[in-house]
Amino acid sequence: MHADTESIWKLWQAELARDALLSEWRGLHADVDRLDKEHAASVERAEQAQAASAELRDQERALNRRLETYQKRRDKAQTMIDQGTAPDYLAAQAQAQQCGAIADDLETELLELMERMDAAATALKGAVDGRDHLAHRHRGAQTRYQERLIALKPQFEAATQRRDLLRERVHREFIGLYDRLRGKKMTVFGLVDTDTCTACHVKLNGTLVSDLRRGVAVLICPSCGRYLAMRAE
Ligand SMILES: [Zn+2]
Repeated sequence: MHADTESIWKLWQAELARDALLSEWRGLHADVDRLDKEHAASVERAEQAQAASAELRDQERALNRRLETYQKRRDKAQTMIDQGTAPDYLAAQAQAQQCGAIADDLETELLELMERMDAAATALKGAVDGRDHLAHRHRGAQTRYQERLIALKPQFEAATQRRDLLRERVHREFIGLYDRLRGKKMTVFGLVDTDTCTACHVKLNGTLVSDLRRGVAVLICPSCGRYLAMRAE
């Protein structure tokens, strides 16, 4: 490999190592971020489920109070009828019937409400379990992030230093293309397998391949514009 090609290669390898650390850091950070949002949403869902359950309990209490009122009125009218103490027998009978019918309706309503309360209790349990589970995962991701960051930070700083150092060793005339390739998120090198650039799959001419083998100059793929290196090297 030509000495200048080698310094470009080394810079690229150092850059890839630095990229890997950066992407690991971003991945861990993204995990924390994602779980942060998911956890916040689960807290909200649990609060909504709690509010819905509380609302149903209030409805139940109100219904029970109304039911009790109508049952008492019905029983009072019935007692007067039974004991013959009603001032107006027909009115008392109508009162007993009316209050009895309302009490029956309220009982039906109460049964339906209790079914909804059961469903709400199940939903609440699910929401609370989900929230607790996410809180646990969120803490786990935060811990992993913090712990890994302790090692990752100096590693990344070292990788950056190494990258900067190797960059200074690359001849200025080669940096422009290097930066353009990196800027386009392209691989900097096309590795040549026998006589083909494996980056763009184009066959190279014999002179180019032979120059590359002998390492006579820094060579660029005429098709994709990447620096060339033999795969074996
Ligand atoms: Zn190519």
